[in-house]
Amino acid sequence: MTLKKTDQRYSRFRFDAGSLSLNFVGTVRHRGSRPRDLLAAPEALPRWLQLAGLVTSAVPLSSEDHEEALLLREAVHDTVRSVILDQEPRHDDIDRINRAAKFPIAVPQLNRGANLILWETPDPLKACLAVIARDAIALMGDSTRNCLKMCARDSCRMLFVDASPAHRRRWCAMSLCGNRSKVALHRQRKKSLDIG
Ligand SMILES: [Zn+2]
Repeated sequence: MTLKKTDQRYSRFRFDAGSLSLNFVGTVRHRGSRPRDLLAAPEALPRWLQLAGLVTSAVPLSSEDHEEALLLREAVHDTVRSVILDQEPRHDDIDRINRAAKFPIAVPQLNRGANLILWETPDPLKACLAVIARDAIALMGDSTRNCLKMCARDSCRMLFVDASPAHRRRWCAMSLCGNRSKVALHRQRKKSLDIG
């Protein structure tokens, strides 16, 4: 199957951070070097919400909605990063996450044919952001916080949940960052040996 040009762009979305809110944070790639915001275009966010399974059809968004979503994303990123680095998180970030979490999430309603779930909410975007914010709260507020990690590759710095039994994961994904870091380290060692 050949992907259309727009779909190829969305294929860069990653859903392997280990949690919904960190997948959302991961829509900015390469935070450690040249950050690239995959949600910069207004049409990208409705697509992400669908691919993340939060909505079944595209949610119409205003520019304020778009901005609100990205502000929540950065608040989650900065707070989780603070937790990982054992730094004091910003209170306004925590307030933003808590505010977003307060909005009621969509309610399931059965249609008259009893064969379809209709998700009812007065504001689909705020309901989605509430699910994301609640996920972030759950991540940081219980023992999962000890599993929060930042990719060791300088250019990446993706945040993820290390669910491995030994909690020794260093990279967001071995195939993406682990192997490249190992190759770079090998080259560096070889170079220093050659010089020596
Ligand atoms: Zn990485």
